[in-house]
Amino acid sequence: MDGSKTPSVAPVLILLGPPGAGKGTQARMLEDSFGLVQLSTGDLLRAAVAAGTPAGKEAKAVMEAGELVSDEIVIDILRDRLAEPDTANGVILDGFPRTTVQAQALDALLAETGQKIDAAISLEVEDAEMVTRISGRYTCGSCGEGYHDTFKQPATAGTCDSCGSTQFKRRADDNAETVASRLKAYHANTAPLIAFYDQQGALARVNAMGDIDKIASDLGALVKTAVA
Ligand code: ADP
Ligand code: ADP
Ligand code: ZN
Repeated sequence: MDGSKTPSVAPVLILLGPPGAGKGTQARMLEDSFGLVQLSTGDLLRAAVAAGTPAGKEAKAVMEAGELVSDEIVIDILRDRLAEPDTANGVILDGFPRTTVQAQALDALLAETGQKIDAAISLEVEDAEMVTRISGRYTCGSCGEGYHDTFKQPATAGTCDSCGSTQFKRRADDNAETVASRLKAYHANTAPLIAFYDQQGALARVNAMGDIDKIASDLGALVKTAVA
């Protein structure tokens, strides 16, 4: 730190929730409504794997097994991403933090620039719903817009609503075996963060069962208050 930076007060929001809860879907909607930037450590890790970086090479097998990538790698990736200028107007963290060590590292990182978390929002969903959501998930190969075989199909079949691309992809880890390990990792390592943020007075809960637009509207109302 050179000490000369003006502390920034840009909003920092966290979306907490098990795999498939709708974090990515809702984060993209919040980007549009609030001008915030979505930071998904899952997306950043998949990009590192695709690029074949040393971190990506280490993360690949761990992600395929549905386990958590080491705190060290994930914190490094997030720190680098937060240093990029497009995050200056505020961020929505999607899939980070996932452990208490990551949550503490985030607090320390934000403190360096005089920032803190505005809200940690827990998307509350039943475990059985996760399997349905994850097994039907696919995304646009070009812009990353998320879709679902049953719950969110493009308006024109086979064409992305956001960018018009006709290329879609499915994640290698979105299969029944991996989902079980991912849910286990969520309950063991990430669910305790709900109490962690409750103690900080930063926790909010949203019922994330049901219609995507209804959840977006509940979440939007909450975010409006949190960043006011
Ligand atoms: P996460 O980022 O939490 O893993 P996603 O946003 O990728 O979850 O959502 C998982 C899948 O479920 C996607 O296919 C998405 O289109 C779908 N989905 C998201 N929210 C809902 C919802 N409220 N109801 C039904 N399906 C949903
Ligand atoms: P989902 O929300 O469906 O679980 P993500 O895209 O957030 O999917 O994460 C995919 C995988 O990337 C996780 O199963 C895990 O292996 C790894 N990962 C993502 N974020 C983290 C994190 N904060 N800490 C550890 N591993 C992570
Ligand atoms: Zn697209």
